[in-house]
Amino acid sequence: MMIRCKEVTKTFRKNGAEVVSLDRFTAEIAAGEFVAVRGPSGSGKTTLLLTLGGMQRPSAGAVQFGGRDLYGLPPAERARLRSGEIGFVFQMFHLVPYLDLLGNVLLAAPGRPSDAERERAAGLLDELGLGKRASHRPGELSAGERQRLAVARALLNRPKLILADEPTGNLDPENAAEVIRHLAAFHQDGGTVVLVTHGTAADQHAGRILRLDQGRLAAN
Ligand code: ADP
Ligand code: MG
Repeated sequence: MMIRCKEVTKTFRKNGAEVVSLDRFTAEIAAGEFVAVRGPSGSGKTTLLLTLGGMQRPSAGAVQFGGRDLYGLPPAERARLRSGEIGFVFQMFHLVPYLDLLGNVLLAAPGRPSDAERERAAGLLDELGLGKRASHRPGELSAGERQRLAVARALLNRPKLILADEPTGNLDPENAAEVIRHLAAFHQDGGTVVLVTHGTAADQHAGRILRLDQGRLAAN
């Protein structure tokens, strides 16, 4: 099993009140799955992805990644696992405006980019239809192109898992479909995808849908 969540609970304090973002969430995700996550706004979808990705420690419960207790690992080891095995794609792209496209893809490289990483980054820009624009800045791109750039960055380290949080939320249907196609291609090549989405573009690819409701896994 790639991921095991056992009774994962995350609470926040907000203006003195306690907000339960994940409520005893228990689920398993196998390597090679394409899982869609759905649920109303505020149901804990983003919290779940951050928690799965080693970016947000749960208040209670445990997350196992490849048999290892993700939040029991020393921080440096968790960071290494995160950058080596997990790619993230966000709704708001999270690109760096002053770096060119190649530089943005190479942000995923853990240290100083090697020649091989530079070559791979250029190859990914080609694959995602941005090869001719490698020296442009994100500000010169359309929303669809920006998200393809974010996908290229997520792919740089040949991750096993891609976590995508409403990556098509700011895209028109055509560009949304194209981004989903790239995630589906990653899945076809053996990758695991967990995708938060409100749209229907991924329905044909998702093998399973996890529904969240107030931080709890709802019956399908
Ligand atoms: P979704 O992605 O499904 O919209 P989130 O995971 O972002 O839901 O949020 C779930 C709940 O947790 C919401 O009530 C939200 O306000 C709260 N929450 C999320 N992150 C924080 C935070 N950093 N601080 C306080 N409350 C938070
Ligand atoms: Mg969210």
